[in-house]
Amino acid sequence: MADKRDYYEVLGVAKGASDDEIKKAHRKLAKKYHPDLNRDNPEAAEKFKELNEAYEVLSDKDKRAKYDQFGFAGVDPNYGAGQGGFGGGFGGFDMGDLGDIFGSFFGGGFGGSSSRSRRNAPQRGETLQQRIMLSFEEAAFGCEKEITINRTESCDECGGTGAEKGTSVETCSNCHGSGVVMQTQRTPLGMFQTQGACPNCRGTGKIIRKPCKKCGGTGKMRKSRTLKVKIPAGIDDGQSIQLRGQGNAGVNGGPSGDVIVTISIRPHPLFTRDGNNVICEIPISFPQAALGDTLQVPTIDGKVEYTIPEGTQTGTVFRLRGKGIQNVNGRGRGDQYVRVNIEVPTHLTDHQKRLLRDFEASTTDENQTQRKGFWDKVKDAFKGE
Ligand SMILES: [Zn+2]
Ligand SMILES: [Zn+2]
Repeated sequence: MADKRDYYEVLGVAKGASDDEIKKAHRKLAKKYHPDLNRDNPEAAEKFKELNEAYEVLSDKDKRAKYDQFGFAGVDPNYGAGQGGFGGGFGGFDMGDLGDIFGSFFGGGFGGSSSRSRRNAPQRGETLQQRIMLSFEEAAFGCEKEITINRTESCDECGGTGAEKGTSVETCSNCHGSGVVMQTQRTPLGMFQTQGACPNCRGTGKIIRKPCKKCGGTGKMRKSRTLKVKIPAGIDDGQSIQLRGQGNAGVNGGPSGDVIVTISIRPHPLFTRDGNNVICEIPISFPQAALGDTLQVPTIDGKVEYTIPEGTQTGTVFRLRGKGIQNVNGRGRGDQYVRVNIEVPTHLTDHQKRLLRDFEASTTDENQTQRKGFWDKVKDAFKGE
């Protein structure tokens, strides 16, 4: 009975099929399975019976409407009750399956109550959130960290059953473990089956005579746990790592939730990050810029030498290929960008000032092409003033 086929399926038509389509489908299949044409074929006889039952309901406007809304129970008041209790045949606590069977019996027509039928179905535990603060280098190169979380676990005394050690959890005899009872209602439209939480077990499907003392019968307890978190090289601020199954324990045998660890990265005194690239600003002196120099450039791998050419202008950006951060999703590294900024000297002595004045007096337009170009443009713009 549990695998009674949907009437529409029996007729091979869509749920919204027209009366005409239903009639045609019936005629076609009735020919195929007719007992006169299928002598000594019990399978065909069964099909023929099934077909006629489906047609009887779907060809009747009233019955079809009830079937659409309430499933088999809508057209056969004995349907649910005749099962002798749903739980019996299914045993155990695997209520997920039972929930599915309820769902298909009633075609979802019961709306809100279908969620009630799942009140003792396995549920996944909650996911827990945690934040980790990393140094710039830890994020760049990866590391291993520990976090401490407070999570719900199965009680280690009773193994999560909630029943005192040595006693067992009984299946509720009223609902046969389903947590749901069927009620027959008489209405002007006929008899209806409705389902509600079993009052005997409050919808859990289980009766605990002696609750476990350690967890008070809940089967759960809070535990503080320290977890190791492997941080992959290249992880960026705001990204997160999922620790599967490390969250709160599930309910009714459902899987545990996860722990989501979100990364924050502390600012670095020298480097900033743009994706996988590292940016570093280096102050240089005017003579270094003018004469060129070999700089000791800090990178995340340590110092490297970089030669800036004669006549380097302020704000020039140099690229150190492959000196950036590891791509967190695969191979390869970003680059490091080095911006040089010329620092204007301050607190000059008289001697230094004299040297600079002498130097300035010695320069020509050749030495300062930008300056010459600018004043040429000014001259053009203000012609005649
Ligand atoms: Zn316990
Ligand atoms: Zn019950």
